[in-house]
Amino acid sequence: LLRLDGVTVRFGGRAAVDAVDLEVARHEVVCLLGPSGSGKSTLLRAVAGLQPADAGRVLLGDADQAGVPVHRRGVGLMFQDHQLFPQRDVAGNVAFGLRMHKVARRERDRRVAELLDLVGLPGAQRRAVASLSGGEQQRVALARALAPEPRLLMLDEPLGQLDRGLRERLVGELRELFGRLGTTVLAVTHDQGEAFALADRVVVMRDGRIAQTGTPLEVWQRPASAFVARFLGFDN
Ligand code: ATP
Ligand code: MG
Repeated sequence: LLRLDGVTVRFGGRAAVDAVDLEVARHEVVCLLGPSGSGKSTLLRAVAGLQPADAGRVLLGDADQAGVPVHRRGVGLMFQDHQLFPQRDVAGNVAFGLRMHKVARRERDRRVAELLDLVGLPGAQRRAVASLSGGEQQRVALARALAPEPRLLMLDEPLGQLDRGLRERLVGELRELFGRLGTTVLAVTHDQGEAFALADRVVVMRDGRIAQTGTPLEVWQRPASAFVARFLGFDN
């Protein structure tokens, strides 16, 4: 579904993403791991079309995405800053993509209710965004990204602000949902437990490059380098 060929993004001469090759198959859930500043968010932004690549190609379903604007890429996005639309209520935010896709009102209301249940905010449709806590806003942003059932869902630290209990419950439910919908997912997380629970495959990044990719078990059992081992928390 997604292929990156030598994708490079430079900021002031320094490559934040450095000639990355990566393929993500349909229905695959891939988690990007890596230290702060290793280029995870920049890579997602390049795939989404929010950050032009200085070199390389992004292909989605075999089509080169050069010049294709973000809203025509068929991707769902949830970024670290998860900006909600402050002038819309919760339902207005979650339904945003559904309205763009001209989903009928009844169906829209049904899906909004279903998604708010999923993220643990049942009945929050009419609440003002400003009245929500940071974690609640994050969950609304997640529901908004899921709503249009995009062919590729990209999540940047989707559960970062949530407490452990809620995170564990959501990881389980998201995994079930992705399986049921056959969603292809490229997600960034700092939390290894989350990556290992959610991902079919993990990609460990270092300084804009891929240090290792494999199933969670492969990476855990056979880290490819001292860097990966250290990152996973092994002492040697
Ligand atoms: P984190 O885990 O902290 O979110 P990350 O892996 O997502 O980190 P990126 O945000 O992709 O890292 O940043 C990679 C590098 O690119 C960093 O050194 C960062 O300072 C730099 N960078 C990112 N965006 C910009 C920008 N708009 N202008 C200049 N430098 C940038
Ligand atoms: Mg980031």
